[in-house]
Amino acid sequence: MIQHITFAEAHRGTLLLVNDRHPLAAWPEGSALVSVGADAAGCPVLLRRDAARMLSALLDTVRGHGAIVPVSGWRAHAEQEALYADCLREHGEAFTAAYVALPGCSEHETGLAIDVGEARGEIDFIRPAFPDTGVCGAFRRAAARCGFIERYPDGAREITHIGAEPWHFRYIGVPHAALISTQGVTLEEYAEQLMACTPARPLRTESAGRAYTIFRVPLTEEGTSFEVPEGTPWQASADNCGGLVVTVWGAA
Ligand SMILES: [Zn+2]
Repeated sequence: MIQHITFAEAHRGTLLLVNDRHPLAAWPEGSALVSVGADAAGCPVLLRRDAARMLSALLDTVRGHGAIVPVSGWRAHAEQEALYADCLREHGEAFTAAYVALPGCSEHETGLAIDVGEARGEIDFIRPAFPDTGVCGAFRRAAARCGFIERYPDGAREITHIGAEPWHFRYIGVPHAALISTQGVTLEEYAEQLMACTPARPLRTESAGRAYTIFRVPLTEEGTSFEVPEGTPWQASADNCGGLVVTVWGAA
């Protein structure tokens, strides 16, 4: 069955690679954002609805509500600009380059990224404490099952261009988060792998006992078309690198 998807629809997916080499091509609609709690200043922390629902499921899984607090979620482009400028002024160039993404190149502008902190004492807005022990460690280990990855792991700065951020999680969705986590790769490396998967030579894989068929087609401003088997659930997401990744539930 032939499906057609527009450029805007494709960017409502969860596989967008956003970094200093791939600025975000389409921003989320305001109506897609919901609050996941309040930050230290009492302002709502917003996430895209799909990411918010799974964050809540993840916190349920580890009984983390209250012990883990949202620190920063969706940021408007102007907010990222102000944060970048403030950080540059207060902490200088090296620190800012390591921890704050360039405006337009921040995952926080997608509404799919969340900085979380351990609810203990004063919480640092730029670098909240999120240890690998206790409930925070449990959150980190359960994240992939709920579709989240630790986006900037230690030792991956050459690839991500961002220093280790143990507090920054990114919603990728199922099964991709589990596939990334099992391989121990970054989103950059995973996106590269998917570039090789075509409709004729898809990636056939398994995650949590389910089979998946994954392929990629080129995506332009006009959108794109692809074929999926009739009656089979599927999802599609722009990769923000000129392609659309199609995930079909089942061994198509
Ligand atoms: Zn972050």
